[in-house]
Order: sequence, then C-alpha cells, then structure tokens
Amino acid sequence: MAQKFLEAGYEICTLTEKPDIVIVNTCTVTNIADRKSRHMLRKVKEENKNAIVVAVGCYVQVASEKVNKIEEIDLSIGNVEKRDIVNIVENYIKEKEKITEIADINQEKEFLEFGSITFSEKTRATIKIQDGCNNFCTYCLIPYARGRIRSRKKENIIDEVTKIAQKGIKEIVITGIHIASYGKDFENNYKLIDLLEDLNKIEGIQRIRLGSLEPTIITEEFAIRLSKLEKICNQFHLSLQSGCDETLKRMNRKYTCDEFREVTKILRKYFKDVNLTTDIIVGFPGETDAEFNKTFEFLKEIKFYKMHIFKYSPREGTPAAKMPNQVDGNIKEQRSQKLIKLSDQNQLWYNQKYIGKPVEVLFEEEKDGIWSGYTKNYIKVNFKSSKNLENQLVTVKIFH
Ligand code: SF4
Repeated sequence: MAQKFLEAGYEICTLTEKPDIVIVNTCTVTNIADRKSRHMLRKVKEENKNAIVVAVGCYVQVASEKVNKIEEIDLSIGNVEKRDIVNIVENYIKEKEKITEIADINQEKEFLEFGSITFSEKTRATIKIQDGCNNFCTYCLIPYARGRIRSRKKENIIDEVTKIAQKGIKEIVITGIHIASYGKDFENNYKLIDLLEDLNKIEGIQRIRLGSLEPTIITEEFAIRLSKLEKICNQFHLSLQSGCDETLKRMNRKYTCDEFREVTKILRKYFKDVNLTTDIIVGFPGETDAEFNKTFEFLKEIKFYKMHIFKYSPREGTPAAKMPNQVDGNIKEQRSQKLIKLSDQNQLWYNQKYIGKPVEVLFEEEKDGIWSGYTKNYIKVNFKSSKNLENQLVTVKIFH
C-alpha cells in the first residue's frame, strides 16, 4: 500500500512527522489483535487530530460493523477494496465519498497484485507468493479474513525477484498465508517446487528461504527436487501445533504425528545440518495432562532447534472458541514454560555443535561495532569488525 501511495506521488512519513493521512493495517488473528487494532486507531487520531485515519485489512474485513462504530476512523477499507486504496482515499478527500460495502473475500479469485516492492529492504526481501487458505483449522480466523487460496502469477514473482536481485539483495524469503498451497488454483499444475526451481535460476539471489510450511507438502520426491536447488536454505519452519493426534484432530490439522515424524526424517536425510523450527499451541480446548505429555514426548524426540509456543486463546467466531473443556490459564502457563525450557535446551545443544567451526554468514546490521547476521540454516552470529559488512557473505569461525 505504501508503494501505491509512493507511485501516486505521496511521501511516506512516520507518525511523529504529522502525516495528512494515516493508514492502519489492522490484524484480527486473535482477540488481542482486534483490541490492539482498535487501540491503534484511536491513538493515531488522538495524536494526529487533523489527519485522515483509514482502517484497512483483516479486522475491517471480518468485523466492519464494529470497526465503523469507532468514531476516530474516517474511512474503512476491506481486503478486496484495498487494491484501489489511493482512489478511495482521494475520493474521500475530494467528495467526502465513503465506500459503504465490504466485498465478500470468499468470492475473490485473483491474487491481489500490488507490484514490486522497491524500498526498505537491504539484505533480505520477503516475497509474497499467495494469499488465502482453504484449511479451516478450528482455532483460526484467517480463511474468513483472507478468503480462499489465490496464487500469484509466476511471471510477476520472477519479475519482482529479478528486480530485487538487481538491487543487490542476496536473500529472499518466500511467504504467504499457506505457501504449501501455491498453485492449487492454477490449471497448469505449476506448483511451489516448480516456482522454487525457477527462482533458483535468478542471477544475484544467493539464498532462498522458505516461510512457514505445512508438513504435508514434504514428500520424498519434493525433498529430492528441493535439495538439488543450491540456493534453498537448510532451515524449515514446519507448523506442528500439537504432538498429540487427538488434539490435532480437534484442531482440524491435516496430518498425524507419524506423518509429521516421517517428514522430519525426509528433511534430515536430504539436507545436511538442517534446522527445523515449529509453532506449538498449548492449552487447546480439551487438552488433558495426558495429551500434553504426548506432545512433550514427541517434541523431545523431534528436537526442533526453536519452538514458538502460543498459549491457546479463544478466537471469537471460530469453532474452537465454543468447544467444551477450555483449559485453565494457569495450566496453559505451566505447559508453556515447560516447552519454552525444552526449546532453549535444544537451541543450546544445536548451537554448541558449531563451536570451533567455520560458517558462512550474511551480515545485516551493526551495533556498537558488532555485526550480526544469519547462517544459511538461520543461526544468528555476532562478529566484531570495524569493516562495513552489510550485505556481505563472510565466513567466520564460531568461538562461543
Ligand atoms: S492452515 Fe494456517 S492459515 Fe490456514 S486455517 Fe490453519 S492455521 Fe489458519
């Protein structure tokens, strides 16, 4: 959206520079996100009384009535209409004309193309390749806010990545709501692995990192093709959510623990020093001590490098929010602490393997003479140097 305004001749500024228009891109992923979105909308108006405050995004999409009751907002724009954000805002300025309807995102068939991002990133650029999700996990509101799967045309992705490479950016991160679904809405059978093979050929790009992946996409054949692409980073974030089949079923996740274990074996077979990370929800409705213990044992066995632990919080409008046997907050906290400790132990164990070894790091930023960056498998490395290492790939030896 910032890019669209830039192209129309506007300048992008910070909130302290007294903007004329403030765009708040709202989130609705949890009840807390809704609250934060409302808070932000009120705060920006309070601090910028003369500015036009525009609410955009997922919270508007799923709760437009609530959003429109917030007095501090001048305009609200849903996820379909935001492609015309500049026109809508300009019509409002000229004619005080507001859009009154939010289109049904479920009817959307095309990926919303915003064009290439040409500002901000220096070393690592995120590339969005698809939007929407068809999975309907029982705790998640995203399919309602983002609609069904829409994949971005390969030509547009390749064009954007080529431009990014020409700017000197070496690493790209492939993102989307559910990247494993890339291409499912195409008729030509072009899938994520085909896209990655095409991106691997783009000169200048040296690393391709995959964002969160649903494990079901990883078959032996997929891993073999992927492992032949020298730019693919040996770090995979596989969203597991629970290590107990009963809980996974209630979550409406599409795999079992056995299938997930198989996926980790495949990745470890084809990618040397692979770094596996994951997300876990603790305290999902009905999660008994026995179910949690199954998850704990499974996680001990898989040994993820890092686990992001989320305490389940009911999301209004989802089936899980109405499920019986909601778990007490203290129990969620205890389970969360136990898994955080396990994650920290694993990270230490994994990092220690590198002591005394050389690793290649793409350095990103410097603070007080210390440069920091990441290895290909996403281990953070700090390195003292008076040289400018920004966007440089350098091999360093790990001391501690
Ligand atoms: S796959 Fe991810 S985005 Fe889709 S419904 Fe499940 S949690 Fe939400």
